[in-house]
Amino acid sequence: MDSTTPYPDPASLLELVPPATLEEARSFRDDLVLRLARERDSTSTFLLTLADFDRRRGWEPLGHSSLFAFLMRELGLSKGGASSRLKSARLVLRFPEVIEPLRDGRLCVTSLAEVARVLTPENMAEILPLFYDCSVREAREVAAAVAPFPRPPRREAVTSLPLVTPRSSAGLGSDEPSTPVQSTEPLPAGAAAPRTEVRPLTVELRRLHVTVSARFLDKVAAARDGLSNAHPDVTTEQVLEAALDLLLEKQARAKALVKKPRRRPADAGPAPDGTVNPRAIPAAVERAVRLRDGDRCAFPLDVGGVCGSTWRVQLDHVVPVALGGTPTIENLRCACRRHNRLAAERLLGDRATSAMRAAMARRRAARKRRRGRPAGQPPRRNAGARRMRRASRPPS
Ligand SMILES: [Zn+2]
Repeated sequence: MDSTTPYPDPASLLELVPPATLEEARSFRDDLVLRLARERDSTSTFLLTLADFDRRRGWEPLGHSSLFAFLMRELGLSKGGASSRLKSARLVLRFPEVIEPLRDGRLCVTSLAEVARVLTPENMAEILPLFYDCSVREAREVAAAVAPFPRPPRREAVTSLPLVTPRSSAGLGSDEPSTPVQSTEPLPAGAAAPRTEVRPLTVELRRLHVTVSARFLDKVAAARDGLSNAHPDVTTEQVLEAALDLLLEKQARAKALVKKPRRRPADAGPAPDGTVNPRAIPAAVERAVRLRDGDRCAFPLDVGGVCGSTWRVQLDHVVPVALGGTPTIENLRCACRRHNRLAAERLLGDRATSAMRAAMARRRAARKRRRGRPAGQPPRRNAGARRMRRASRPPS
């Protein structure tokens, strides 16, 4: 248990080395598991010590006005770091029961702020286990379910960023009750556009903070205008949800995940000369494979189970086409792009897969050329919004 391998010299990480073998990877994994256990133990011990230090007001004889000041001045923590450790230590002080799940990894230290927000002596036995194995985002959702916002804000707000020229907020700045509000407070010049943020408010409601272009708002406004006769009170959320429903339906059709998938040339069976294109997958086969695998990557992991990713999922031939594999339900599985490549590399080797990728890139470029636009050039943007605006304009 104590024999971790010596950590590598940081400078050596720049050297080019061959990928790890399976044996080496397993040895790495065991080492990392051990180090993580130590890290969790060390974090728990730190919080326990800090809780004891705070309980005895150890920061006072050292001349500090508070534990927060001590954490920043003497331990050199940032405001955020000091605040999260302070909250965690006080949580430990109130509920020493959190230490054990912290130590064995069921409870993540990054979730403690959310735990601290909602845990009470009365609900502890029931609520604490809900935070086990949660990411920060999941912990926020649990906290929002336990203690929902009493009056969740429903207002939509549009804030201008200096990097984006607010060409127009037409249709979004009208006096309808549900329209977003254009803020007069631009962010400071040079401020980076914030990433998308989701804040759970109640079990059902989330607050979404997302940076969009003026073009995006034009499209939302055009879609609202288009719906205004049938649904004069339509909200931005309803417009976006309707658009997302259309997109999801289109994606489901492309993946044959609809009751009546569109027929493909492969559904017609072998060509008149008896040949079968092994890369063409019949719609019914794709539908059966995606339903069987739950449209998630089914690549097996060394530790057991499957990858389960839903990101860039493709259909993977278990026996590659190059080795005679055919497009049958048994020979196909869902695989994320990464695992699709890995499986091919394991069976065919690096060179063969590089050649296949180069051939696929050539085919893609040829398809784009046939469509009349140079390879690499993005499609014309905003054409849809322009069409919608034209259509919604009153006749002059
Ligand atoms: Zn995968």
